[in-house]
Amino acid sequence: GHWLGVMGGGQLGRMFCQAAQAMGYRVLVLDPDDQAPACQIADEVIQASYDDDHALSMMAHRCSAVTTEFENVPAASLAALARRVRVTPGASAVEVAQDRCVEKSFIESLGIPVAPHAKILTINDLENASVELLKDGILKSARLGYDGKGQCRVKDLASAVAGFDEMGKVSCVLEARLDLAYELSVVLARSVAGEVVTYDVARNIHHDGILSVTHVDGQSDEVRAKATQWASQIAHGLGYHGVLCVEFFVLVDGRLFVNEIAPRPHNSGHYTQNACVTSQFEQQVRVMTELPLGNTRLLAPTVMLNLLGDVWLRGPEGNYQDPDWNRVLCHPEVSLHLYGKNEARPGRKMGHINITASTMEQAVSVANQVVAELDLPDQATLA
Ligand code: ATP
Ligand code: MG
Ligand code: MG
Repeated sequence: GHWLGVMGGGQLGRMFCQAAQAMGYRVLVLDPDDQAPACQIADEVIQASYDDDHALSMMAHRCSAVTTEFENVPAASLAALARRVRVTPGASAVEVAQDRCVEKSFIESLGIPVAPHAKILTINDLENASVELLKDGILKSARLGYDGKGQCRVKDLASAVAGFDEMGKVSCVLEARLDLAYELSVVLARSVAGEVVTYDVARNIHHDGILSVTHVDGQSDEVRAKATQWASQIAHGLGYHGVLCVEFFVLVDGRLFVNEIAPRPHNSGHYTQNACVTSQFEQQVRVMTELPLGNTRLLAPTVMLNLLGDVWLRGPEGNYQDPDWNRVLCHPEVSLHLYGKNEARPGRKMGHINITASTMEQAVSVANQVVAELDLPDQATLA
């Protein structure tokens, strides 16, 4: 059979493997850790770093196409692979998403608004930043941050300088802290031929900078329509091939800003596994193999609850203990997805639960029962 390659062995790579294997492909995973979630189920693993020449040539030789499951794969590795095999998304698009400075400039160049911000390369840039940004801002490292890591609150020049020092003076973005009404995301797929399909807009609740709850009700309004249109515009502007997520802020005053983009399937798109005709992972397989894109239609209102390591650390004396799945799965609307991680840490993504029901009220009601049973941090009820 045909082999597909994936750079990275995390949970997104694992769910990609599952979708690819369901369609009859074999999957080769490259990851420095051969116990990573995707490596446990891959047809073959190359245990090496992402810039290992030998590993890259093996991948190019064995696979008919290669994709990536996290945005920090060296762009040079994707470019090297692309000289020998189809790589989706391409190095140039991933490169944009790897750096908040480049990403924000690119989005603004399309006429799409992002949060007020300043690029911070030196202490001098902080001293020259506007009073408004320094008074109530968030300093974010330009590269390598995820789940709210590599960020700190700023309330004056002194706290900004201290935060910058603590991050090791790496290049940063100082962003205005915005008065958010809520957060949205749009997952889409763009084919090699340039066709775009979008999924229904997701509404997201974050807790401590980490996604906690996603709601998808299939409804639309002006803000959601604009978010969908901007997400497509970004995909076209990047010449993007693959599954892309665009995260949005909706402000209390009604303005819509792009927060950031992810050049891969996204946590806020996990609901598609149970609630849509075609999941985001199957869509990723279809783009890389140049098969027709699948239907993105939402089949039922849905709520996704993230399961972080904290849920496993509630045993006696804070020890590892599996939650009572029997109790959770008593609700027939619940689908459980676990990533095979055998070490729980606070804030570590271990799995998720999709709840699909005939009405959103019912999905939310079941979700809140699960929230209570597992003592999750956020109610699934929207404000
Ligand atoms: P990930 O890539 O895992 O989504 P990240 O580390 O790149 O996360 P961001 O998306 O920048 O982090 O921020 C995480 C969350 O923190 C946002 O979803 C939002 O809830 C909050 N946040 C970030 N920036 C701002 C801001 N400028 N104003 C208000 N809230 C913010
Ligand atoms: Mg991010
Ligand atoms: Mg984010």
